[in-house]
Amino acid sequence: MTVHANTALVGSEWVSDLRIEVEHGRITKLEHGKDAHPSDTRVDVLLPALANLHSHAFQRAMAGMTETRAAGRESFWTWRTLMYRFLDRLTPEHIEAIAALVFMEMQEAGYASVGEFHYVHQQPGGAPYTQLSELSQRIFSAASQTGIGLTHLPVLYTYGGVKQEPLAGGQLRFSNGVDRFLRLIEECQPLLPHADSQIGIAPHSLRATSPDDLQQVLKSTPNGPVHIHISEQVKEVADVEAALGQRPVDWLLDNADVNKRWCLIHATHMTDDETRALAQSGAVAGLCPITEANLGDGIFNGAVYTDAGGAFGVGSDSNVRISLPEELRTLEYSQRLRDKARTVLVRGEGSVGQALYTGAARGGAQALGRAAGNIAVGHLADLVAIDRSHPTLCSLRDDQLLDGLCFAAPDGTVTDLWSAGRHQVCGGRHIARDAILTNYRAAMSDLLADL
Ligand code: ZN
Repeated sequence: MTVHANTALVGSEWVSDLRIEVEHGRITKLEHGKDAHPSDTRVDVLLPALANLHSHAFQRAMAGMTETRAAGRESFWTWRTLMYRFLDRLTPEHIEAIAALVFMEMQEAGYASVGEFHYVHQQPGGAPYTQLSELSQRIFSAASQTGIGLTHLPVLYTYGGVKQEPLAGGQLRFSNGVDRFLRLIEECQPLLPHADSQIGIAPHSLRATSPDDLQQVLKSTPNGPVHIHISEQVKEVADVEAALGQRPVDWLLDNADVNKRWCLIHATHMTDDETRALAQSGAVAGLCPITEANLGDGIFNGAVYTDAGGAFGVGSDSNVRISLPEELRTLEYSQRLRDKARTVLVRGEGSVGQALYTGAARGGAQALGRAAGNIAVGHLADLVAIDRSHPTLCSLRDDQLLDGLCFAAPDGTVTDLWSAGRHQVCGGRHIARDAILTNYRAAMSDLLADL
């Protein structure tokens, strides 16, 4: 397969008339200043497509259902209560149909891959399915239907709180001890949907695992991505500090070998010292700005982290809205509103849009263990094309294009997307859109019938 782009971002350089050859999902040759051949797929502006580093696909089905205020009951913790009611009713078929819709929407938004932080493993009530990996296999099937690049992150979730309280209610579906969790990982490995798929581990958070369990699971899985939720909520920071004697990020950096394999999801509430220490660890901060705003989590310590050269990527987490430009814009705007300043998240000088986009491309690929995040020979062909003739982009210079994309353009400027060379979005539409939508609508009417 060969793609010809009028303009493309290669590393940090904008080039014209780029021809890209792709074999077995990887970029094998790059030439610029070349005319298109008649058989080339032609696009306007070509960019490395981002990895969406944090998703709980099933939560997409709750979007719009938790925005009503009731006296004294509008917090994150009541949002979680509705999620647990939902969980009592979700079947494997629902999970597959919802995940397929979510992955399709991600690709149409410009994400070539996803880190699915997968924590529903068991039947309602907590009994395992005949096959431990039943629900992981539903995620694999959704990844096959959509062609999205998948880093599957089965979650170790054992306790109902940092004092190792037992799980209850909806949480029973998450339940795994270390042994069964390791068996699940082993069962998933040969079932992954594509050659570029990865498997990692996701100890859910310091509230849902114990220090001993965390050590044991890390020892048993010496390779691959490690993702963990951390410091998302003020209450969580206080609970961890009371139980473990340190703030969550401080505790983790002192008690685990946090390095480039790691992705710390949210890391919202950090002191400046924690922020600099996380940046120096080489781990990725997995930021989910739309969800963090929706849940009222707080604002990431972005200016300090950027100055310290910290790696970051973005994820759509609850999937309340799947929009890549809005994710990046919300991240920057949260900093501007807090600091009463402009152009915050760029180190030194330069385009904020380009710093956000290329930073999230590199960090997202690192977090998912994918050779991607840049258009380069040997990398996976995770590519996205955008339409420069759009009124919000047509008058911009090359070096302003990503500012236009992040701050000015609406959703829907994506024309084409490839996940490891699989051409899944053409003319702005996913190639399996109609079938995926039909399945999703049927699943939702079934699910909501008795909610
Ligand atoms: Zn999450």
